[in-house]
Formats: sequence, C-alpha cells, structure tokens
Amino acid sequence: MQDSEFQHNFHTHTFRCKHAKGDVADYCERAISNGMKTLGISDHSALPDDRWLGGRMNYVDLPEYIAAIDSAKEKYPELRIVKGMECEYIPEQQSWYEDELLGKHEFEYLIGAAHFFLDTNEQWIPTYGGTNSARSLVEFGKYTARMMESGVFDFIAHPDLFGNCYENWDENCTACTRDIMAAAADTGVGLEVNALGIRKQTAKSPDNPFPLYPWLPFWEEASNYDVKVIVNADAHKPEDLQGKTGAAFQIVNDLGLNHMDVEQIGRA
Ligand SMILES: [Zn+2]
Ligand SMILES: [Zn+2]
Repeated sequence: MQDSEFQHNFHTHTFRCKHAKGDVADYCERAISNGMKTLGISDHSALPDDRWLGGRMNYVDLPEYIAAIDSAKEKYPELRIVKGMECEYIPEQQSWYEDELLGKHEFEYLIGAAHFFLDTNEQWIPTYGGTNSARSLVEFGKYTARMMESGVFDFIAHPDLFGNCYENWDENCTACTRDIMAAAADTGVGLEVNALGIRKQTAKSPDNPFPLYPWLPFWEEASNYDVKVIVNADAHKPEDLQGKTGAAFQIVNDLGLNHMDVEQIGRA
C-alpha cells in the first residue's frame, strides 16, 4: 500500500444533506492534518424541484454550499479542493447539469449515483430495497449505463449498490454488471469502490443476509474490461475521510484494476 493512495478523496458530504456531520472547512482541516493533498467536496445534490429532500440539500442552500467551497479554496491553499456534487441523473434535466451546474455554477466534477433508478415504465424505484428481482437488476444496469452516457459525470458512486437487497450472486447480477462495465469501457466514466460500504459491512448485524457493497464478484467482472476505478471514503463525518480506504485499495490491487488518474479530475 502506497501513501499516495490515501492522499485523495473525491467523495465528501456536509451537514447540508441532513445525514452527515461537519462543514467544508471541518473536512479541509482534517484532510490537512491527515497529510492529504486533494479533497473533492460532493454533497448530495440539490435538485431544482426539491424531490427526495430527505437525504440531500435543499435547492435554496445551493449558493451557500458553493460559497463554502469557494471560501475554503482561499483559506486552505495547501490543499487542492475540488467543487463537486453527488447527483441522481434525471434525464429530462440534462441541460440543467450542463448549463447550470457545470456551466454557470462552475462545478469541477459531478458524481453520478443511483440511489433511485428509472424502470422501463419511467417510474422511479429506490435502490435500497428495490434491486431485489431479476427485472429490477436489468433496469438498474440500464439506468446506470444511461447515467454514464449522459456525459456529465466523472465517475459513478457505488455502482454495485444492488448488493443492499440481493442475497446471492447469480446470472442476473452478472448480466447487470456486464451492462455497467460495457458502458464504463465505452464512455471512460470511472466506477467507484466505495469504502463507506466496507465500513457498513464491518458494522453489519449478523442477521443481515445481504452482501452490501463493494460486492466482490462485481469487481472481479471489472477485471475483464478496460475500465477505470476510483477509491473514495464517501465521508459523512470528518474522521471518516480515510475510513477503510486501505481495504478498498486492497480490492483494486488484488484484482489488478486500473485506478483513475485523480490529478485529472476537476481539471477539464
Ligand atoms: Zn449520503
Ligand atoms: Zn455519498
């Protein structure tokens, strides 16, 4: 394990999403004291219609979130701070990601994350509890591919989140995974090995039958494709900025996966 592996994190939340602790400056100070070089801030995106408000910032808070990141950039010049958000992908709002977030608000990177996914009837299904059938896995895979093809995301957070409610790996998982891998190979969008998932696995109760994520067969399949991966802490409190990232890098190294060049994220 090399020190450089622990010096970057591109998945960091703030109190604004209502289930994380601390503000941008608290994470910056922790990152600096940990000897880190790069901190990407990526709270759960505000959305213009304020849908799914329970776990994300309110739309009215977006300017203040941006200001908190911009002022941290001035206050902590020794740290490379990168302005991002973790976003659901709502296809009819494509121009909002492009023109408002990446354009007007000058976000430097966006993470795509399917906490919800669209089924074939264009209905939104929650991924927690919702990816528990062959059909829903097909839909989750296709939706994740569609996110990558949108061209607005640098990488996809926890693309193996379907392990939250699918008990045993089978051919449905393999098919879903291959759809995701093919799109990742085509588009060059990265796939995240999420260390928050490892922290959840460590804390999981013995009567929980589900594998959660990272789900190893997913990443074994990744080794058959020309895809890039990224390890992130998915920190919801400052002390988690490097939590279990070593175990996530272990998966990447054991399988010989190709890590993204993090110097390029936010430098478009
Ligand atoms: Zn979160
Ligand atoms: Zn997150």
